[in-house]
Amino acid sequence: MQTITEITPFRNALRDARRSEKSIGLVPTMGAFHEGHLTLMRRARAENDVVLATLFVNPTQFNDVGDFERYPRDPARDSQMAEREGVDFLFTPPPEEMYPPDFDTVVVVRALSDRLEGASRPGHFQGVSTVVTKLLNLAGADRAYFGEKDWQQLQVIKRLAADLNIPTEIIGVPTVREPDGLALSSRNVLLTPEQRRAATVLSGALTDAQAIADTGVQDAYEIAAWLRQSIAVQPLAQVDYAVVVDPETLQEIDTIERGGLAAVAVTFGKVRLIDNRLLHPFGSFNMRR
Ligand code: AMP
Repeated sequence: MQTITEITPFRNALRDARRSEKSIGLVPTMGAFHEGHLTLMRRARAENDVVLATLFVNPTQFNDVGDFERYPRDPARDSQMAEREGVDFLFTPPPEEMYPPDFDTVVVVRALSDRLEGASRPGHFQGVSTVVTKLLNLAGADRAYFGEKDWQQLQVIKRLAADLNIPTEIIGVPTVREPDGLALSSRNVLLTPEQRRAATVLSGALTDAQAIADTGVQDAYEIAAWLRQSIAVQPLAQVDYAVVVDPETLQEIDTIERGGLAAVAVTFGKVRLIDNRLLHPFGSFNMRR
């Protein structure tokens, strides 16, 4: 594995791959690797000739300086893990390489960025959209891999790639979970043991939401109310949002007749966790078969 910190050598390394018509898979990350990241890398390894991972804790997507400073970092361990997964190039630029002093452009995906995470974290998706556009342009990859755990981010990236004619296929990868259901996240290490035990309330509430749907309830607001109630039983959990929305537009919906997305954001002390689950209306699997 070759580790590259500057844009020009990164471009040159990839030019050789492109000239020999090798397919390139890109995995953008902020590091502190866990099985979720490794699953993206494995998928990229299986589907492409050349695998490229990027490790950049992007300052512009943090609306809270404390969150940026607390964000876990372990580049030496990350590098070993990426190498073990067969990553060919690891791009780890310092902030000034990505944002020189005269940097002055932003990418905004408007409607999709306003709600949910965007409403709670102003400017977050502008930071994500801008850095991901830069990485997609730099890599010129055939495919780029993103986790469904950050569902809204995935929709924002699909939109910007389509709107800006970026010829990279954006691939969503299902959420990897701990045995007790907690979605893997770099922020999980910041939880106290008590908060860590309490954090299973997110995936538990999402499972409950599907169980309610399985009884035949289709009213999205009723399911969202159940979702909030399931989380409220955990005293350490502070709900930011718990909603049922359209999986693509993320707009509120009245019914999950044609499916829906249950999305939750919950804070434990200073640690904010998100999770989501696609909801299927009762009987839909049978109907589809
Ligand atoms: P991050 O380093 O947190 O920005 O995540 C880098 C990529 O890994 C993003 O596309 C995330 O959606 C994805 N990811 C994070 N956690 C998980 C998970 N538990 N399962 C699958 N993908 C994940």
